[in-house]
Amino acid sequence: MKIAAILKFSALDYPGKLSAVVFCQGCPLRCVYCHNQDFLDSSLSGNVSREEFLSFLKTRVGLLEAIVFSGGEPLLQPNLREAIESVKELGYAVGIHTSGVIPNALKVILPTLDWVGLDIKTCFESYKDITNVADSGKLVAESLSIILASWVNYEIRTTYDSRNITDADLISIAQSLGERGVRRWIIQECIIRDDTRLTHLPLPSQDILSKIATYVNVELRRS
Ligand code: SF4
Repeated sequence: MKIAAILKFSALDYPGKLSAVVFCQGCPLRCVYCHNQDFLDSSLSGNVSREEFLSFLKTRVGLLEAIVFSGGEPLLQPNLREAIESVKELGYAVGIHTSGVIPNALKVILPTLDWVGLDIKTCFESYKDITNVADSGKLVAESLSIILASWVNYEIRTTYDSRNITDADLISIAQSLGERGVRRWIIQECIIRDDTRLTHLPLPSQDILSKIATYVNVELRRS
């Protein structure tokens, strides 16, 4: 298990629970707005040893309620199941944030999870525009089906990059989610960084949100 970093406290990363976030090293995608560039290279070793991780878990028993594996892409980690078992033994709930591009690994690990946050980057046909990886949308569609066929608690969210996601894309995603039975879709504000500043990209217009709402309940999440 390669752990790049641990965020020791978060009230935002697991719905309704105080959590810590474990950032895993390595991601197969290269999203245009990625803020975790240091976590992408899977050839790098992590910065947090297994002993440090286990010791951290023990010191937070009774203070935190959940541990969330994020990244990078946590499903790339060959020892994720072992890490989850260590977390569960101490009584924490376990969640992951995933891009959904490794559906086979998701299927195997899903029964051990209490909650999944799945990113839908854009409509499945246009995935490469955001991720720079061809056919990644097909894999994510498969992961979405796996989650919806399970009993796991989940959250579906999209970071709205208005440079690469059109209004038609938004409607198409909403329709697709609604048809698959997703009841709640979170659209997150996209923040891009250049050398000198952060820019908050606009959220969808009220008109588009009204159209989306005919397919699925939508919530906006500002950063
Ligand atoms: S999936 Fe997440 S960590 Fe990976 S490149 Fe995209 S934004 Fe970055």
